[in-house]
Amino acid sequence: MKRGRAVVVGAGPNGLSAALTLALEGWSVELVEGEETIGGGSRSAELTLPGFLHDVCSGVYPLSIGSPFLTRLPLAEHGLRWVHPPVPLAHPFDDGTAAVLAMGFEETGESLGREDGRSWRRLLEPFSRHWFALASDILGPFPILPRHPFLLARFGLTGMRSATSVVGRFQEFRARALFGGVAGHSFVPLDRIPTASFGMVLAASGHAVGWPQADGGAQRIPDALASMLRQAGGTIVTGQRVKSLDELSEAELYLLDMTPAQLLRLGGVRWPESYRRRLARYRYGPGVFKVDWALSGPIPWRAESCRRAGTVHLGGTFEEIAASEDAAWNGRESEKPFVLLGQPSLIDSSRAPEGKHTAWAYCHVPHGSRTDKTAAIEAQVERFAPGFRDLILARHTFDTAAIEAHDPNMIGGDINGGAADLTQLFTRPVARLVPYGTPDPRVWICSASTPPSGGVHGMCGHLAAKAALRSPEAFHSLD
Ligand SMILES: Cc1cc2nc3c(=O)[nH]c(=O)nc-3n(C[C@H](O)[C@H](O)[C@H](O)COP(=O)(O)OP(=O)(O)OC[C@H]3O[C@@H](n4cnc5c(N)ncnc54)[C@H](O)[C@@H]3O)c2cc1C
Repeated sequence: MKRGRAVVVGAGPNGLSAALTLALEGWSVELVEGEETIGGGSRSAELTLPGFLHDVCSGVYPLSIGSPFLTRLPLAEHGLRWVHPPVPLAHPFDDGTAAVLAMGFEETGESLGREDGRSWRRLLEPFSRHWFALASDILGPFPILPRHPFLLARFGLTGMRSATSVVGRFQEFRARALFGGVAGHSFVPLDRIPTASFGMVLAASGHAVGWPQADGGAQRIPDALASMLRQAGGTIVTGQRVKSLDELSEAELYLLDMTPAQLLRLGGVRWPESYRRRLARYRYGPGVFKVDWALSGPIPWRAESCRRAGTVHLGGTFEEIAASEDAAWNGRESEKPFVLLGQPSLIDSSRAPEGKHTAWAYCHVPHGSRTDKTAAIEAQVERFAPGFRDLILARHTFDTAAIEAHDPNMIGGDINGGAADLTQLFTRPVARLVPYGTPDPRVWICSASTPPSGGVHGMCGHLAAKAALRSPEAFHSLD
């Protein structure tokens, strides 16, 4: 049976996943990307010195190795290999110790103390043990008919609360801080609901599938998806920044890996004013300021477990992290920002010349902030790793405008495709039964501005493509 023709705009992880889903269903697919390189928020480049390979945006992939869609694909045959650090995450304290999130629960428990180790396990094990069942219900639109209702209900009871209320169960600062740092990935103040869900999803995934990185760099992820897409007959055009659908070839379906601000500027779509007004009300969240370093040696952490961790959260106590996240959300700069740091060359020698290292770190800043946070970020690293500054051979920095220039979907430096607070987590970009659809039946949205929001999991693209395939437009294209 002959299938229809689709054009996908934007070769980020979601655009690639949408294109691949359609191509695997037998559709003729053209993927059009504005940049010369594919990958959007999943690219690698020599940002500092020759021979030092940096992940320009994303670098840690619990949501990829834990994605119900990506794990079904034979990406290893297309050059993608996950590498795991000995410890996914460490969270150092001023006393020279650190809490750790390890695969399994033993080492985590030891680092948190007996009572809190037990509480941590009780909180997360039911979900890490059934990670893929949980992921199939939560990595998508609000599940009206969940596949695993009891598991989801149990998750929702705690996940729908604020991180601040959930850490009340811990006796000591270590577990509170570890959970707060993970929940901080939400970019939402930690006293708001449902920030606990971010902490639980990322912590449970860490215990279940780890927080790996892509061997050889982030670029390997889109490259593997693109290789599969071409094998399935799809084509990819780069260097074409699409301004109107009228410039694209004729197709039954158009899937757009873009956020509302860009969609509103796009020509050639037939949307009523009421839908445009709703898109215009879409809110973006805080941005990030990122630093990449070329280093002459590994970071000299005081806490031994930090030297084995892929990711290190630098923010001290829960209260300190909460204050930093509250500031970024409310348009204030934090003097002591919560810093998320990665050290990929510790487990991947292809990232730097022999004996040398790379590291990256970013902090959350007010939306559109142009403040240089390099000194504040480096002070946080130095706080837990004295001597760090002496190792810096070169650095590259990105403020929110530079990140948006690198990838136009990162509006004002927002890396999640829009604020992921309660009102926009499930109903993004607008409240609709099928959030991927638009009033123009040919046009579908497949970016991180749709459920389940930011992260390299491909689920927005995959679910948008599946929804589009069920539409009358797709049906009429069949012979
Ligand atoms: C600093 C940083 C760190 C991050 N860390 C992580 C992490 O560790 N783990 C993780 O899972 N996620 C992380 N993320 C988030 C992740 O990168 C994004 O959520 C993810 O890339 C979203 O995928 P997407 O396909 O929706 O959009 P994008 O990856 O942004 O891709 C959109 C693509 O569409 C193209 N495009 C847009 N408009 C047009 C147009 N008009 N014409 C043609 N092409 C167009 C863009 O050029 C881009 O290639 C991070 C992001 C940043 C910036």
